[in-house]
Amino acid sequence: MTDNHYYNVIIVGGGISGTALLYTLSKYTDIKSIGLFEKYDDIATLNSNAKGNSQTLHCGDIETNYTLEKAIKTNKTATMVENYGKLYGYENKYMFKIPKMALGVGDKEVAFIKERFEQFKEAFPYMEYWDKAKLAEVEPALLKGRDENEDIAAMGTDKRWSAINFGEIAKSFVRNAKIENPDIEVHLSKEVENIRKIGDKFEVTVEGKHYFADYVVVDAGAHSLLFAHKMGHGEDFSCLPVGGSFYYSKVDSLKSKVYTIQNPKLPFAAIHGDPDIVHGNTIRFGPTAIVLPKLERYHHAHFLDFLETMAPSSEVIEVFYDLLHDDDIRAYAIKNFLYEVPGIRTKLFAKEVQKIVPFMTENDIEFAEGIGGLRPQVIDKKTKKLFLGEAKIETGEGIVFNMTPSPGATSCLGNAYKDAELICAFLGAKFDTKKFNQELTGEK
Ligand SMILES: Cc1cc2nc3c(=O)[nH]c(=O)nc-3n(C[C@H](O)[C@H](O)[C@H](O)COP(=O)(O)OP(=O)(O)OC[C@H]3O[C@@H](n4cnc5c(N)ncnc54)[C@H](O)[C@@H]3O)c2cc1C
Repeated sequence: MTDNHYYNVIIVGGGISGTALLYTLSKYTDIKSIGLFEKYDDIATLNSNAKGNSQTLHCGDIETNYTLEKAIKTNKTATMVENYGKLYGYENKYMFKIPKMALGVGDKEVAFIKERFEQFKEAFPYMEYWDKAKLAEVEPALLKGRDENEDIAAMGTDKRWSAINFGEIAKSFVRNAKIENPDIEVHLSKEVENIRKIGDKFEVTVEGKHYFADYVVVDAGAHSLLFAHKMGHGEDFSCLPVGGSFYYSKVDSLKSKVYTIQNPKLPFAAIHGDPDIVHGNTIRFGPTAIVLPKLERYHHAHFLDFLETMAPSSEVIEVFYDLLHDDDIRAYAIKNFLYEVPGIRTKLFAKEVQKIVPFMTENDIEFAEGIGGLRPQVIDKKTKKLFLGEAKIETGEGIVFNMTPSPGATSCLGNAYKDAELICAFLGAKFDTKKFNQELTGEK
């Protein structure tokens, strides 16, 4: 039982990461007193909301910046989300079986797709190779208006639950956690101001009031690293907040998620076109990628928080120098900056769209105001590299900090599993990993 001031575990942040952990602890462990604090008045209002991300369950099969090894790992966590959805009957409610593909345009990219398909087909047996003739059947919008001499090919499938409303899944985690453990407490509109260690407990300050916990998990998006730095953890990490915007089109075109080929040096997916699962009859194109001096996309900037999270140093400058020294990345950064500039952005972005749907013009798309989020891309100062995907600071002292750029929403249950293991080992609690695996990974 909780006394409203003390919990075994406090979770900071009510996005999909925090709520997936809340669900995992409530259903699969014997930890009874858990408190979650979320600073806004609802669950998943930021990056985990359907308007903040690309709504894609990343399985690694169409994300060309993933190596086979990374794809296999990501696919495991994606399967957990799929199985969770099936467990509660969320098919066609919060998850949708939209066909998806990685598209190659031109001879070089077609050769790349062919080679990648051969490399991936054993681990992803449901994937098919679609040549130009097959694509004319599967997704005619890719052909309409295209130069007939330009070759295209894709690796794709219509067999996976590819599109997810992560915001609704996050809310469902809270509902289902409460069914499993009615004692959990979810505090909305409660911003955590400070965390400090006192003896073997953590003091978590919320609006001047003190709460205590044996274990704390910080799932606060880009703010996670800010909390870590304030507590003297994660000094080897810096955060580069990368905003992503989208363009909408109401013109009848794509029926599938169409991903393009990414520069392997960049840790996020290239521009793609996706039927939006919450705005009917709308295709989304994006996301763009622009470095922003803030920790939340559409709330006022806390520039000092940004600086503290970024922790500029000679290593960070070296990473920037290396990135901007690369001609492709420099061109990419400039292009993406221009995609945000009113007056010219739609005309420029139309060229990206035309790679996918050649007949579309600037008149067929519009900048989607207020749509998109922010990816807290993590820089490892020791290796002087950008991380591909999530990063975790595991202190061994009863506090964990999670930084979750894409595919963080897909990895929510995989990440929750890791944290539940750490928490149970630290607190001496039981984690029914067999039940978790039976229900969510399908492994015995
Ligand atoms: C443009 C874009 C496209 C993306 N596309 C995909 C995709 O298709 N598939 C995919 O898997 N991933 C995608 N991602 C990544 C995905 O959105 C994130 O990884 C995921 O939403 C992170 O969830 P989270 O709960 O960790 O963080 P968030 O959703 O950011 O939630 C963090 C929560 O912490 C709260 N918080 C912060 N500070 C405090 C505080 N002091 N006190 C209390 N609460 C606090 C915030 O209010 C927020 O609710 C995309 C991201 C972007 C930006």
